[in-house]
Amino acid sequence: MSEHLTTVASVAVDTRHFIGGERVAATETFTDVSPIDGSSLGEIARGTGTDAGAAVAAARAAFPGWAATPPAERARLLEAVAEGVEKRLEELAVVETHDNGALLRSHRRGVMPRVAHNFRFFADRLLKLGHEDFATRGHTQHVSWDPAGPCVLITPWNAPLLLATWKAAPALAAGNTVILKPSEWSPLTASLLADIATAAGLPPGVLNVVQGYGPEVGAALVAHPDVRRVSFTGSVPTAKRIAASAAAHLTPVSLELGGKSPLLVFADADLDLAVDLALEQYDNAGQVCLAATRVLVERPVAGEFTRRLAGRAARLRQGDPRDPATDLGPLIHPRQLEKVDGFVRRALAAGARTVVGGHPSADHPGGDDPGDGRDAAREGGLYYPPTLLTDVAQDSEIVQEEVFGPVLTLQTFTTEDEAVHLANDTRFGLAATVATGDHERARRVTARLVAGTVWVNCFYVRDLRAPFGGSRHSGIGREGGDWSFDFYCDLKTTVTAP
Ligand code: NAD
Repeated sequence: MSEHLTTVASVAVDTRHFIGGERVAATETFTDVSPIDGSSLGEIARGTGTDAGAAVAAARAAFPGWAATPPAERARLLEAVAEGVEKRLEELAVVETHDNGALLRSHRRGVMPRVAHNFRFFADRLLKLGHEDFATRGHTQHVSWDPAGPCVLITPWNAPLLLATWKAAPALAAGNTVILKPSEWSPLTASLLADIATAAGLPPGVLNVVQGYGPEVGAALVAHPDVRRVSFTGSVPTAKRIAASAAAHLTPVSLELGGKSPLLVFADADLDLAVDLALEQYDNAGQVCLAATRVLVERPVAGEFTRRLAGRAARLRQGDPRDPATDLGPLIHPRQLEKVDGFVRRALAAGARTVVGGHPSADHPGGDDPGDGRDAAREGGLYYPPTLLTDVAQDSEIVQEEVFGPVLTLQTFTTEDEAVHLANDTRFGLAATVATGDHERARRVTARLVAGTVWVNCFYVRDLRAPFGGSRHSGIGREGGDWSFDFYCDLKTTVTAP
């Protein structure tokens, strides 16, 4: 086997960059480690500024040809990519689980089918884009969506291929060329995507994949003057660096960032449903940007709700994400475990009370038996138990900052005004969930919430036609549906005299 191939659960993955249709080796590499058991998954190319320059040059060279390819042909090729994803769905699911520790059953059933759908949806949507004509004093006005040029797409580790294709599919459909830089903590499926795109017949240079560290190759890509768009999903501190760097060349940026979303539970809600919704927030071990980690409960039902949620959370099974019986896998990285643990320890020191979970070590200050979660954590590895904290102050760190782990806080409220105030009182605005049996209340409350997406009596139902993004520090811009094309295109109005 080539020194540039690694094998993950029998799937061969090329560890090099993919630039201009060729595999490109790097002089230096970094080790990709599985969060499941700390085993090495391979030595991955560690990109440099030179690699970034080569990838942008390849994307630039391929751009005129791809932009001039008729939309129907671009759509056909992206359909072929979708088929390629479907053909290799099991391999993609298995590799992604080894790489980022999220549940294999979720990758199989939900995530990878959605990856294929991303390509299919935007290929189809492109053909339906309204190329509007209207007349002014006899002059015809024609609006067109022109592709912008090379687009840099930078993605995080919590949903690697899902987020990469959510950006790449519309960017490519619109006629742009792409340089994808996946997270160094989950680099593998991006490499498989390059293989799939090649097999589907995507011309060289249209999709490029560059591996490596964000502050090295990622920063070099963003700073490159020939890049026409930067779409970034990740943390707020990185977003600030990217926005500042892109500003030097006035490169438009789309920023999809973190959150601290609320789940509002009113006394008139179906409590079983409300508990289900709260429990869903532990999915992917809480490493979900949209997670409603601040549970706000109307006082009369707070006791009953807390008892039910605590009972269910304590029974969640934590362990190997390949096991179909597992509810929560590991955190991504020792640094993430340390970060989550630090947040909880500081919250407890500040007076928070553990209802469930907390640090699994013997000296943790108490709480109910977390059951299977604690057992799994004791086995070692990166397992942090599902945790529920109460007695938290609104201005405390645990309520205001994104933990990105399986940690929920629970606060109570007495009036609708207070609920809305608490819900909106952070610097984020990504999402919110409302549980209520009163439609009129749902309408009133959602109108006042600051959030890119509000779910009423449901969670995580997403349609690609809808805009997606966050307000305040949760991001700038919206992608999804035609909003993706608005971002990845230069809109042009052509006025023709009679
Ligand atoms: P991160 O900001 O550390 O890294 C994200 C990506 O940016 C990685 O590919 C990294 O290599 C790259 N990067 C780092 N520094 C860079 C630099 N200076 N220049 C260019 N690129 C750089 O984020 P993360 O820890 O990987 O992801 C977790 C964060 O992502 C959380 O805050 C989460 O809420 C957020 N997130 C948001 C959404 C959304 O749609 N809003 C979705 C998923 C995750």
